[in-house]
Amino acid sequence: MRLVVDLNRCQGFAKCAFLALDVFTLHGEEALLYTSRFDEALRDQVEQAVAACPVQAILADFSDEPTKGVEGRVG
Ligand code: SF4
Repeated sequence: MRLVVDLNRCQGFAKCAFLALDVFTLHGEEALLYTSRFDEALRDQVEQAVAACPVQAILADFSDEPTKGVEGRVG
């Protein structure tokens, strides 16, 4: 399972960081770090973060296809 944050949309509101602490971390006031790959144990948290993002910036793929991981940063 993987996700990507659309950095053109993300406004650094940090709702995702509060709902999925193991996936998203806010550094400073606007810098968002995230892990693009996550496993089943974090699925509920990621789903909540996707739903809570006020600008729909989080795009998640809940399939089990293996992917290469990348880290993203905005701010
Ligand atoms: S991805 Fe959405 S919820 Fe997370 S910091 Fe960016 S705008 Fe806020």
